Amino acid sequence: MSQLHAKCHCGNVEITCGGEPKFIVMCHCGDCQRRTGSAFNLGAWFAKASVKISGKTKTYSRVEHDGIETTYHFCPNCGTSMYWGMPQNIEVLAVAVGTFADPDFPRPTVSFYERQRQSWVNVPENIDRYIGSGKGKKLNQ
Ligand SMILES: [Zn+2]
Ligand SMILES: [Zn+2]
Repeated sequence: MSQLHAKCHCGNVEITCGGEPKFIVMCHCGDCQRRTGSAFNLGAWFAKASVKISGKTKTYSRVEHDGIETTYHFCPNCGTSMYWGMPQNIEVLAVAVGTFADPDFPRPTVSFYERQRQSWVNVPENIDRYIGSGKGKKLNQ
């Protein structure tokens, strides 16, 4: 895959990703619903070394339900959620899939916190599905 380009609503923050995402997560948890203002969160995780970020972001950190702290970066001008990661994990970071605005972007590979999934949201077939985080009970094999 060639390079993938993401940008915020106003264009101040741009991200270029070399290579394919390692995995793509849809998360239905209430915190992600509030953070995105949408029915679920969609993040594509890339090797940090392959990601180039330009433009200043502001951050907000939270401790996830599974106890892991995540720091979220958003554009201070237009508020678009751009990317996030765990401060203790320097290998990978997630880029918000919507910021690519690409109809051919690969589909999700895993679904988390389905106990909070809005009832009309369909999950793609043959992906890993969990009631909570990836540390918890799996819904399928
Ligand atoms: Zn912006
Ligand atoms: Zn979540």
